[in-house]
Amino acid sequence: MPGRKPLPHPDDPMVAAYFEHCAAGKLCFQRCTACGAWRHVPRIQCAQCGSPDWEWAESSGRGKLFSWTVCHQAMHPGFADEVPYAVAVVELEEGVRMVSGLRDVSFDSLALDLPLRVVFESAGEGVSLPYFTSV
Ligand SMILES: [Zn+2]
Repeated sequence: MPGRKPLPHPDDPMVAAYFEHCAAGKLCFQRCTACGAWRHVPRIQCAQCGSPDWEWAESSGRGKLFSWTVCHQAMHPGFADEVPYAVAVVELEEGVRMVSGLRDVSFDSLALDLPLRVVFESAGEGVSLPYFTSV
């Protein structure tokens, strides 16, 4: 019997804010206010210039497929109903790369630089998670 998927319950306020933006249907990343570099996952300091100053900025939600794998075995019971499924590394227009899942994309169409756009899917308990679909 399939279990429930684990949901994010971040203790870190920066990570919690990332998921609050997702719940509002916005894909937001940190942007350094000193040098303008975007970053993900949330962290306290810019890896480009070392500045601790940053702001939340909304991504266009558009990007391209940087890498992927197709999982044929569920490593958690909550994913048993979804195998096989693709796990993707998506490079957003802002230069940020993130790991996500794909929706409504056939495995046959997977190719480097495949244009993608974000979609949000409710995971329950007020949590929405970002996935990507082809443009
Ligand atoms: Zn910076």
